[in-house]
Amino acid sequence: MRIDETPGAAQRKEQRLSGIGVSPGIAIGPAYIGDRGALPVSESRIADSAVEAERSRFAEAVAQSAKQLRKLRARATALPGSASDEIGYVLDAHLAMLANSRLIRGVNQRISRAHINAERAIELEIEEFGKSFAAMKDPYLAARIDDIRVVGARLIRNLLKKPYVAYSSLSGGAVILAEEVTPGDTALMDPRRIGGFATEVGGSDSHTAIMARALGLPAVFGVVGLLERARTDANVVIDGSAGAVIIDPSPITIEDYRERHEAYTRERRQFGRLRRVPAVTRDGVEIRLEANLELPVELEQALANGAMGLGLVRTEFLYMNREDLPDEDEQYEFFSTLVTGMEGRPVTLRTLDVGGDKLPAALAHYAAADSANPALGLRAIRLSLQERRLLDTQLAAMLRAAALGPVRILLPMISTVDELCRTREAMQQVARRLRRRGVRLPQALPPLGAMIEVPGAALAADALAGEADFFAVGTNDLTQYTLAVDRTDEQVAYLYNPLHPAVLRLVQFAVEAAARRHIPVSVCGEIAGDPRYAALLLGLGLRELSMAPQSVPRVKRRIRSLDMVAATRRARAIMDQADPARIAALLDDFNAMAEPA
Ligand code: PEP
Ligand code: MG
Repeated sequence: MRIDETPGAAQRKEQRLSGIGVSPGIAIGPAYIGDRGALPVSESRIADSAVEAERSRFAEAVAQSAKQLRKLRARATALPGSASDEIGYVLDAHLAMLANSRLIRGVNQRISRAHINAERAIELEIEEFGKSFAAMKDPYLAARIDDIRVVGARLIRNLLKKPYVAYSSLSGGAVILAEEVTPGDTALMDPRRIGGFATEVGGSDSHTAIMARALGLPAVFGVVGLLERARTDANVVIDGSAGAVIIDPSPITIEDYRERHEAYTRERRQFGRLRRVPAVTRDGVEIRLEANLELPVELEQALANGAMGLGLVRTEFLYMNREDLPDEDEQYEFFSTLVTGMEGRPVTLRTLDVGGDKLPAALAHYAAADSANPALGLRAIRLSLQERRLLDTQLAAMLRAAALGPVRILLPMISTVDELCRTREAMQQVARRLRRRGVRLPQALPPLGAMIEVPGAALAADALAGEADFFAVGTNDLTQYTLAVDRTDEQVAYLYNPLHPAVLRLVQFAVEAAARRHIPVSVCGEIAGDPRYAALLLGLGLRELSMAPQSVPRVKRRIRSLDMVAATRRARAIMDQADPARIAALLDDFNAMAEPA
């Protein structure tokens, strides 16, 4: 936590902004404005025959930039008082620069006449602008060059489709303020050197949010007008629990947040004592608490927090921030570290779940990238079954790791029984091939499970339970698809509610179908890690929950204070309700009564 103590910083008026608190904890540090910096650009020559294609690539980046700005513009109207006008005015100016402006015309001419790539053409055009603006006497007009640079940086960013590698080199507890942060960007953040981050867009169960929680980085999303108010190196406080961002905090505010930070750290230390005790209800029902893993660093956290296994290993990170695909050996290396690291506790490896808000560069050429509705498109198991090379490589690495300890294989976005059958056949084929190669595999192949995260899969859970060896209920996507609410979109975040009776009924369907077929079922969506939901999930019949490693002690503490009979009764009462607000009230009321002393 580094604080800039310069007198100028202390005199500025404190600004408090609010958003969605997506990852708890407090960060205090100097701001780093993430989206504004120019990315390094190189020059390349464009052949005569490729000029048209380069101009359309540029046109696409212009269209994408305009779309992003329109979205920000629409949200700025919600700001109170004059802030709405001020920010709206700036965004309108940026949008105007993307219409048939001198900037756009100039770039197109450079592509056609100088035969250079669009990124370099933008850079040169802006340099040219800089010279003519510098000669102007009018300070107002001279300042417009900053806006042109910001628009130029946005265009270049959209052309390059590149993460902000600068995040990996930040230090000094910097607090990143950005329009948007992707899961790939987050994977590059080092929590020892970065304090936390806040963004203008993003929802609480987006993968970026999940990664922030995984890294223990405090984060606030959906902060309207954030970038318009922030300056690089301003002091910033982020309160990821309350969803607050404070720019230029007063000394009193800083002191207050330092105390809160210490209290938060103290609470986390106390949780350490729960590591060795079981997650057992007051009336003696034992619950398996396992950990979700997005990044390798979490293996240690899973063990330190007393997880009984890895209930969900998201393998996407292996594919992020690189141009090529990870091969079988590289994946095996990673899986075997997990299996041996967990020392006999089960490890649930999920096959690649890309698409929607997770699309690594190495896979951008697949159809999922161009889909009008990526969340409904060729993603997850659908992509794996179409691109068998992807699936077979993962299955081979997983089967080899299964020789070292208990492994389960989990399939994302299952919507039909056929997908399960085809994957099982693929697994058997891969196993035969490996055995022919003389590779040691376990006698019995690993259990093959289905994520229940598509409403249709939950409704057809009986049929799926006939083919699957276990279920893992993914309430993040189940909520998104049941309620038609994009989990990454802060504008509809108020509708994203796993307590909606439709979502709860689907969870109940899946749990009951699993019980009838005697197959294990867990919940591994974000609600599993929130102690608020524990009574309801247990009351619905769940005995296995998988969550971010840091959540294990909090949920365990809650379970140890619960009475299963009372929780089941309350869950029944909740399932009779139609109104999500009433459901929340019934749950909160139950939690308040059972709160440990
Ligand atoms: C889910 O959808 O609930 C889930 C656990 O998978 P992911 O968050 O990776 O989509
Ligand atoms: Mg999912």
